Amino acid sequence: MLTEASRRRSFAVISHPDAGKSTLTEALALHAKAIREAGRADGKTGKRTVSDWMDMEQARGISITSAALQFTYRDAVINLVDTPGHADFSEDTYRVLSAVDAAVMLVDAAKGLEAQTMKLFAVCKHRGIPLITVINKWDRPGKDALELMDEIQERTGLVPTPLTWPVGIGGDFRGVVDRRDGRYIRFTRTDGGKTIAPEEVMTPEEALEREGDAWTTATEESELLEASGADHDQETFLAGQTTPVLFGSAVQNFGVHALLDVLVDVAPSPAPRPTVSGTTRPVEAPFSAFVFKMQAGMDTAHRDRLAFARICSGVFERGMVVTSARTGRPFATKYAQQVFGRERTIVDHAYPGDVVGLVNAANLRVGDTLYLDKSVEYPPLPTFAPEHFAVMRAKDVSRYKQFQRGVMQLGAEGVVQVLRSDLRGDQAPVLAAVGPMQFEVAEHRMATEFNSPVTLDRLQYEIALRTTPEWIDQLNAQLGVEVLQREDGEHLALFPDRWRVTSVRNRLPDAVLEPLVAT
Ligand code: GDP
Repeated sequence: MLTEASRRRSFAVISHPDAGKSTLTEALALHAKAIREAGRADGKTGKRTVSDWMDMEQARGISITSAALQFTYRDAVINLVDTPGHADFSEDTYRVLSAVDAAVMLVDAAKGLEAQTMKLFAVCKHRGIPLITVINKWDRPGKDALELMDEIQERTGLVPTPLTWPVGIGGDFRGVVDRRDGRYIRFTRTDGGKTIAPEEVMTPEEALEREGDAWTTATEESELLEASGADHDQETFLAGQTTPVLFGSAVQNFGVHALLDVLVDVAPSPAPRPTVSGTTRPVEAPFSAFVFKMQAGMDTAHRDRLAFARICSGVFERGMVVTSARTGRPFATKYAQQVFGRERTIVDHAYPGDVVGLVNAANLRVGDTLYLDKSVEYPPLPTFAPEHFAVMRAKDVSRYKQFQRGVMQLGAEGVVQVLRSDLRGDQAPVLAAVGPMQFEVAEHRMATEFNSPVTLDRLQYEIALRTTPEWIDQLNAQLGVEVLQREDGEHLALFPDRWRVTSVRNRLPDAVLEPLVAT
């Protein structure tokens, strides 16, 4: 079991939309021979990749949902946990990041560190997740490589320690020098990245002869880096102080091999995980896992509900009956699947670091701990302060049951946060979201999946602060302020803007009004 756990490398890719995450995912899958041909992701038009399956995703050309891809490479078992690309679904991404042991920060060579990358970087830093950086799209004109290293260091505080260094400027990509052994890996263009780019490996002498000045520049820059201490160091990498950097072109499948090698060589395998009681659960302890993602309606033929669980300890065996720490009730893992896009395979055994999709999971919630024998509970997953609010009502009030079932399910999956109050009643819950597109998903699913078309009316609130029950009446009496209760029991006071917050604080100086910080 420990051998299996130590073979695992579980990671996610964080990036700004359009940096090439879907393309890289496909390229990784191609390299792993998990799929035969990289389904090309062609920007906004006709984009189709295995990780994009939902109707809405297809229509919009963006990745909304998360799934996990498992493949073996060398001796390792790689688990790539997919994350949604759009910033509106960042709450989902935060949860995914609690399920991985490392992350790949994908950077567009022409754009550098973009807003969403920085946000996700902050989450990784907060959670102590080691980062590997990939500078993508080197086949196109972009920023200077040394400038990019400065940008990483200045904006993230991480010291970049390039493992490869590009030969040829962006747009004139000849290949990379492997800084660990000085060899030249020459890049050969392939037809749109449909096949694995052949890699020609040369000695420095051969490289100089072939590439001339481009090679000399690359080796000089590499020496500059060495002199400034920018060489990989395992300890500082795991401590989140340095980040190994690779250069590549996902669309040409170049650099992907190197990334896989780096994952195997330096990325951490699953470690003992902290529990709510303040102890850690060793990976060799009896089975335990937590649900970090719920998904429904993946397959229109089976309206099932899947809970994606990350295994933290022990061996998972299909059919085992585990306990849900929240309810104390048993959960039978009759069928477990690995899911990536539309493709599913049945899993019989899984180990720490793996992600399994548990079917018939209607009674599970995002954040639930599952265990066998020895009771354990992992800390709750982070929730974020919502900034968008809308009242949801059924178009057809006679479908009351369907409506309530849908609302409950969307809340359990963490698609939106569900807020209620006596004033508004059961039929008009308030949905709270980090990004407004979460509302579109909720609306779409209520109609297609729960057979209860709804109307959504946006509310003018923008700020939610935590309060306590004894302040409800006084806060509700303030103009433009409303208190609602979230499903986790928390009371949220909603305000239209910060001016209103200030004026209420002046009027009720003792009122409990605290920011909702990530837990
Ligand atoms: P995502 O939004 O991060 O998933 O990005 P995509 O994988 O959809 O890529 C966005 C666009 O960039 C697509 O048109 C890709 O074909 C293109 N792209 C991705 N990687 C590369 C690359 O290495 N070089 C070039 N030139 N284009 C790329």
